[in-house]
Amino acid sequence: MPTAVINPRIRGFICTTAHPAGCAANVRGLVDLARKGGPGKGIGAVLVVGSSTGYGLASLTTALFGYGADAVGVCFERPANGDKPGSAGFYNLAEVHRQAKAAGRKLTTINGDAFSHAVKAQTIAAVKALGRPIDMVVYSLASPKRKDPDSDTVWSSVLKPLGDAYTAKTVDLDTDAIKDVTLPTASAEEKSNTIKVMGGEDWRMWMDALQAAGVLAPTCRTVAYSYIGPKITHPIYRAGTIGAAKDHLEATGRELNAHLAKTGGGAWVSVNKALVTQASSAIPVVPLYISLLFKVMKARGSHEDTGEQIVRLFKDHIGPGRTPKLDEQARIRVDDWELDPAVQAEVDALWGQVSTANLRSISDYDGFKAGFRRLFGFEVPGVDYAQPVEVAATLD
Ligand code: NAD
Repeated sequence: MPTAVINPRIRGFICTTAHPAGCAANVRGLVDLARKGGPGKGIGAVLVVGSSTGYGLASLTTALFGYGADAVGVCFERPANGDKPGSAGFYNLAEVHRQAKAAGRKLTTINGDAFSHAVKAQTIAAVKALGRPIDMVVYSLASPKRKDPDSDTVWSSVLKPLGDAYTAKTVDLDTDAIKDVTLPTASAEEKSNTIKVMGGEDWRMWMDALQAAGVLAPTCRTVAYSYIGPKITHPIYRAGTIGAAKDHLEATGRELNAHLAKTGGGAWVSVNKALVTQASSAIPVVPLYISLLFKVMKARGSHEDTGEQIVRLFKDHIGPGRTPKLDEQARIRVDDWELDPAVQAEVDALWGQVSTANLRSISDYDGFKAGFRRLFGFEVPGVDYAQPVEVAATLD
């Protein structure tokens, strides 16, 4: 089996290598959090669509190890090829599989395009093989594009304002310099394509397919994730193309809920906190906002990562026996600590001052950068990066 010393290879918000031992250590951290944060039982089976990184990975570990669930996960990840490392999500899931096996949990991973009919069919077959109905479906996809399952059309999402062109500060992740970025107004087609990719259509297709196959428990709960964010990112996020897609996702949640509630189930969108993930690092302005936000939240002791966010989501809202507490638009809000007016007032004040010269002193930019490298298994405490590691991994 090939071994190699693996180093980070980063450009902007892309890292093309990943470290298996570092990813495994990250996952063990999530497993510990889940064990401490849940009763260890209560959920029979869960399906996580987008299970390999970010919020979906934390949802998978919380259900498996915090609530004793068996699980099927769906992801789009790259296995190792010879001595070329696989993707971080692949290594994350390899460790979740090892931990699940050790704990006596059943876990099946379907690695393929979640938007396709074929992957939905494979997933349904895997759920049938589990031999128990699904109690919870977590929909946590973040993708730049979606292929229409019924044609050759490929829709691409864009991050653009719907109002006037928008200029704001951003940080160049290669040079660490603050500069202005201008995002032009989206066209009507770009808006509708972004809704196709990140809106609720595919979530609904998943729920319809699972229901038609008879694999959902009557009391099944489903949750998808959304973001609102501060006024700084409002023109490009919530009032932009991605915000239009999130509006669609949230409307889909309300429609699904009306249907599932008839048999004692439910569907909700949870608005989560801004965190360093592969998806959020790619959005202009957001890495700088996150760097300032983390500085403020860490100083106040209210900072959470994906693991803590999802443990709190299950404990306070969607776990067994819990009644979700909803805002006026029927959304769960675990972004409440981020959007605390006192936190936002501090972030606003720092936003006005931040420059290339003071970036490292007034923001947690180093924390953001370290968090980004950790996503790929680098700079994880306790890992000896000088040692060659086994590159091959399996999801079984
Ligand atoms: P992420 O990039 O870490 O994870 C995305 C997941 O989707 C991965 O498991 C990936 O394998 C999977 N995926 C992507 N395309 C796929 C495809 N075609 N088929 C199968 N799997 C595919 O993203 P994330 O930041 O955890 O985002 C998940 C959700 O949470 C999104 O809806 C996002 O908008 C939302 N959210 C994110 C943040 C944040 O700050 N990161 C905040 C609030 C809400």
